[in-house]
Amino acid sequence: MGIELTVLGAGREVGRAAILISDMGSGTNIVLDYGVSFDEDDRPLLPLTVPPSKVTAILITHAHLDHIGATPFLYTSARPMAVMNRLTSELGRLMVKDMLRLSGYYLPFEYPELMTMLENTKIVGLGESFWVGNIYIETLNSGHIPGAFMYRLVSGEHSILYTGDVNTIDTRLSRGLNINGIEVNTLIMESTYGMYDHPDRRRIEDLFIETVRGVVEDGGIVLIPAFSLARSQEILAILAEKMPHSNVYYDGMAKDILELFLRYREFIYRYDLLEKVYKIFATVRGSEMRKRICKEPGSIIVTPAGMLKGGPVQYYIKRLWSDPRNAVILVSYQAPTTPGRRLLIEGSLESGGPRVRARVFWFDFSSHAGASDLFNLIKSIRNLERVVLVHGGEDSIYSLGYHIKEELGIEFIAPKNGEKLAL
Ligand SMILES: [Zn+2]
Ligand SMILES: [Zn+2]
Repeated sequence: MGIELTVLGAGREVGRAAILISDMGSGTNIVLDYGVSFDEDDRPLLPLTVPPSKVTAILITHAHLDHIGATPFLYTSARPMAVMNRLTSELGRLMVKDMLRLSGYYLPFEYPELMTMLENTKIVGLGESFWVGNIYIETLNSGHIPGAFMYRLVSGEHSILYTGDVNTIDTRLSRGLNINGIEVNTLIMESTYGMYDHPDRRRIEDLFIETVRGVVEDGGIVLIPAFSLARSQEILAILAEKMPHSNVYYDGMAKDILELFLRYREFIYRYDLLEKVYKIFATVRGSEMRKRICKEPGSIIVTPAGMLKGGPVQYYIKRLWSDPRNAVILVSYQAPTTPGRRLLIEGSLESGGPRVRARVFWFDFSSHAGASDLFNLIKSIRNLERVVLVHGGEDSIYSLGYHIKEELGIEFIAPKNGEKLAL
């Protein structure tokens, strides 16, 4: 009897990561991530269901909602063990609570299920190993955001590496992953950027700083909408390093998460820069302060939401968009149908709405590995027999998959949601 893999979510799509690994001999069932996606109307979409009473353990890679967001649903009728590190559990609590506040009406679970999940969580550290049933499990750094893990599972002659989301380059927050020489038969890998290489990060940072500096020197105000988890703190750390004497403010959940990061030194690469952010930059407190900094030439405001959907950025953009001296600097992927994408393509926030007169820029600060990095990662693994590509659009998956097959002679599989594979 072997191992069976069932894709419950993230099959040929980005988001709602969820994979079931079943050891047919022992009946051990491990769920790898259980996240949500959001549809065009911002309603949460859950992965396919799995009977909670049959789940032995859920291994969570990191605290982005597309990896942890639906996990409390597995606690509506059972108490399986969740596994994650301390930072991910604290971030997960914050992120899921916020999602319940915004979309609770559409979700099939509530706050008590989140609490039950946390009460049944086994905390593991980086490099730690443990057993779930007869499966031996190790944790590895994924390089994606602070606390992001990969899991290596070994059962008899089978070994599986599940990457979650990965990054191979060093950022201020996280060291890139390094798995050179690891031995694995089956790799389950994200493929968000399977057909795209990111521009050089140093070059992007230089351009970003040059742009910010230009706006500030002209007496404008810089608005940087950024995701509250990781991207905000990464941008703040870069500003602390390169422009420590500027007037930088951060708002919303970006400050709660910064404070959390500061409590977990072991998961932060340039901890010194985050300390500096905390010391020299200011958190926004109260509406008077918000009003004041919108009138202060040269201020730089970092605030969620990254795609201009919800969050304190709503307040700022309404006050800053009409002045051509100001700038809106987008620093993350802008999904179709978001106000951020509309701003980039049409130059306005609503379709047919007034033109935004502030200057608009976009910089690629992705925390996902690009296509060549993913390819090199695969190449560095020993004894690899097959690659299961998930967490990517069809184009990305097939572009990367055929490249792997042609260059390395390794089989790739691109399962859809609901598909089962026997390993
Ligand atoms: Zn992620
Ligand atoms: Zn993801």
